[in-house]
Amino acid sequence: MTVSVVIPLYNEEENVRELHGRLKAVLDAIGTDYEVLFIDDGSTDSTLTLLQDIQARDNRIIVLSLRRNFGQTAAFAAGFDYSRGDIIVTMDGDLQNDPNDIPKLIEMMKDNDLVSGWRKKRKDPFLSRRLPSIMANWLISKVTGVNLHDYGCSLKAYKRDVIKNLKLYGEMHRFIPAVASWYGVRIAEVETTHHPRLRGKSKYGISRTVRVVLDLITVKFLQSFSTKPLQFFGPVGLFSGALGFFISLYLALGKIFTGREIGGRPLLLLGALLIIVGIQFIGMGLLGEMMVRVYHETQKKPIYVIKKVIGPGKQ
Ligand code: UDP
Ligand code: MG
Repeated sequence: MTVSVVIPLYNEEENVRELHGRLKAVLDAIGTDYEVLFIDDGSTDSTLTLLQDIQARDNRIIVLSLRRNFGQTAAFAAGFDYSRGDIIVTMDGDLQNDPNDIPKLIEMMKDNDLVSGWRKKRKDPFLSRRLPSIMANWLISKVTGVNLHDYGCSLKAYKRDVIKNLKLYGEMHRFIPAVASWYGVRIAEVETTHHPRLRGKSKYGISRTVRVVLDLITVKFLQSFSTKPLQFFGPVGLFSGALGFFISLYLALGKIFTGREIGGRPLLLLGALLIIVGIQFIGMGLLGEMMVRVYHETQKKPIYVIKKVIGPGKQ
């Protein structure tokens, strides 16, 4: 068994050396084969130089240097693509996660496909970080139906299968457990230690919450309607169209039987508007249906995920 540890770093020059030292101590003690992938996410300080230096002396280290700052999710994705382990562990590079928790996560992977850390005693500012995070976790649990206390914790472990088929966008790495659970993987949560950031600056503030919420909408939409967009737009379109039709019918009948003028009535405008909106929505749903087909066919992306093939078959 090989373990890959994936760590994104953006301007963490004050943390890299200690991070490497502590990781090495913990990983050597476990006794399994391992590799550590440090992803330099376009740092402008000496992070990359330090990493290269470490890599030259430790052949278990792989350094990926991204061309510019792509963000934490993209850095994780790069790490996943270049990792070779059967188990992939992710964590932050600022020593807020504790490398000493890694053996516990790996141990739990015996009975699970994904283990997620829970920073029960999170050491971050309350107003700007912990409060939005409590609300975000509540919302994500409600919307996705996967109950975790701490989606945002970077310290997680995955079986290779789980992330193999995932494409990550935006702030999506925190939604991996939710997306994975729809494929039917076993998920566990475990309390992990959290430290305040001692050196370097946090790269995020409250604005991140907005991006997370927008990504949540995407995830929910993809979960429910990605292969059937007309089922989403259709009912709204039909309702609006039908309402518009009956309003117009009512006006027309009134005109025919009572001769009442309808040209200046606001209701006419509403009726016409609802019919147009209805047609638009159904049109959008149909366009969506076409896009879904193009998307799946160009990517050769199946609309299912196979866990195992038993007997002879294409591997
Ligand atoms: N990070 C990154 N790219 C970015 C921002 C952050 O690779 O654009 C890394 C950062 O170096 C750290 C981890 O992601 O290792 C978490 O970042 P940070 O500590 O700033 O987030 P916080 O703990 O405040 O949520
Ligand atoms: Mg941090």
